[in-house]
Amino acid sequence: MKILLVTPPLTQLNTPYPATSQLTGFLRSQGIEAEQMDLSIELIQHLFTPARLEEIFQHAAETGKLSKTNKIILQQSDFYIRTIEPVMRFLSGNDSSLAQRFCNRSFWPQSKRFPSDDDLEWAFGLIGNHDRATHLCTFFLKDLSEFIQQTIDPHFELIRYAESLCLRLPEYGPLKEALQKPLSLIDQLMLGIFEKRILNTKPGMVGFTIPFPGNLYSALRCAQWLKKNHPTIKICIGGGYVNTELRSMTDPSIFELIDYIVYDDGELPLLRLLTGGVPVRTLYLSPAGEIDRSSFGSTENIAFSDIGTPDYDGLLENNYINLIELTNPMHALWSNGRWNKMMLAHGCYWGKCTFCDGTLDYIKRYEAASIGCIVDRMEAIMKQTGQSGFHFVDEAAPPALLRKLADEITKRKLTVSYWTNVRFEKSFTPELCYLMAQSGCIAISGGLEVASPRILKLINKGITIDTARESMKNFADAGIMTHAYLMYGFPTETAQETMDSLEVVRGLFANGFIQSAFWHRYAMTIHSPSGQLPECVGAKHIKQNPGSFANNEIPFTTGEEIDLEFYGKGLNLATYNYMQGAGYDVPLNEWFKNKNK
Ligand code: SF4
Repeated sequence: MKILLVTPPLTQLNTPYPATSQLTGFLRSQGIEAEQMDLSIELIQHLFTPARLEEIFQHAAETGKLSKTNKIILQQSDFYIRTIEPVMRFLSGNDSSLAQRFCNRSFWPQSKRFPSDDDLEWAFGLIGNHDRATHLCTFFLKDLSEFIQQTIDPHFELIRYAESLCLRLPEYGPLKEALQKPLSLIDQLMLGIFEKRILNTKPGMVGFTIPFPGNLYSALRCAQWLKKNHPTIKICIGGGYVNTELRSMTDPSIFELIDYIVYDDGELPLLRLLTGGVPVRTLYLSPAGEIDRSSFGSTENIAFSDIGTPDYDGLLENNYINLIELTNPMHALWSNGRWNKMMLAHGCYWGKCTFCDGTLDYIKRYEAASIGCIVDRMEAIMKQTGQSGFHFVDEAAPPALLRKLADEITKRKLTVSYWTNVRFEKSFTPELCYLMAQSGCIAISGGLEVASPRILKLINKGITIDTARESMKNFADAGIMTHAYLMYGFPTETAQETMDSLEVVRGLFANGFIQSAFWHRYAMTIHSPSGQLPECVGAKHIKQNPGSFANNEIPFTTGEEIDLEFYGKGLNLATYNYMQGAGYDVPLNEWFKNKNK
């Protein structure tokens, strides 16, 4: 049976999301006919065209009620319509000469989003014209996206679709209701592209990867269309959102639109479905109309060394676009550049952090392959894509493996660049960081979490602030950029500890040890040690009935909560400034002044 693997809108636009290329590579290695499409970038490429914008502006003009900003955009619709095509050509790397025009602030219409000439010169100097132009084009697209959201489709955002609808969805009802509404212009456009592909490919099965809540609605819209127009095609969903949120689903309603849900790594479940083998971690509806969970607990898997090489065939023609919203070079890596995505190892070699999904396969099953196998995969991908940049999407790449990787890349005389996730542990010595940098490592990201000794122990991170600082310094000295994941609101964390944590972070920025950071609010999830044994971190669950659809976050109390919204705003404001190289001298309490505003 032929399968079409689909990344539904919307996800990052600069490079393919890794799931379909990984699965395509594996299934083809098993003799299965597999094709893939990135419906996310295809939708964006079809949406941001002169003809489509004309239609959108016309539609918006007819709706009458427009905000002042949208009225101004509408008045300048001619500019947007004639500029969109060259902007997309430039952002997809097909016409670099446009940088000279686009980097000029006066080329663009007035917009509250656009930075001043002074800010631009501070960030890019007088020579960084290409990035400066990308930065301004990003705001141009963001203005248009906001216009579309406010006038045409409230679900639309540039890199997510209907996320707010799907973010917390204990019951399927609200989503079902949204799916029964008439198609929006965006839905129609998406389904038009999808239909053409279905008619060309003629698959027997369509598999949707749903990595985030912002991909769920669009996947189900496509499934709904398939059920109506091609009822014999089987439909399957899987991916990060499914793995974390839909494990305890009891409401069978979603099976009106799909046939199968597969969990954890998709290689073996899909292979079995496509070859009629014994199901593995696959839910479906029994003849009695009940959810059959008989294969859910299976731990059978394809070994990491046997999953094969990601295959990008079917994605190579897509014009992925580069975006730079923040001028911080580390931060821009996520949205700028065509990175080949692959894993160095499966799972996390540490796997003990109390906030992390340590009970799930994607964390708890640590498996490595030989370094020869990994670098062979890199070479095969480079040959296919013509791109030498890699984002290793590991949960935490082990230092010993990174040393072997650096040695092997150097031995094979490859010129590559790469970045990955690590734990800030003491094994990242000056020598290892230097070796990594020499072999092409340009950046790393890692969790410092709460920079407080007491909370780091509760988190069971296995690092100390001193060792983390030391390894960050070693990366910086080697010329490797660092992004730190930070957390606030961990059970029992006090206001003082939150401020102390920010002070540590301020020092790391001021010393140039980190270049970028982001604060996440702690969420107690069902699959984490802290969610399963909350008393170990000084918390207890607040009783609530489990939802019949998505379940992941658990409400909890410690008896002494701090105002998380207030502290979250201050932490993010301070860190935003630090990332721009500003605000190091501002006393910490200045960031937390507007409690009552
Ligand atoms: S938070 Fe990171 S280091 Fe900790 S267990 Fe999870 S993946 Fe591993």
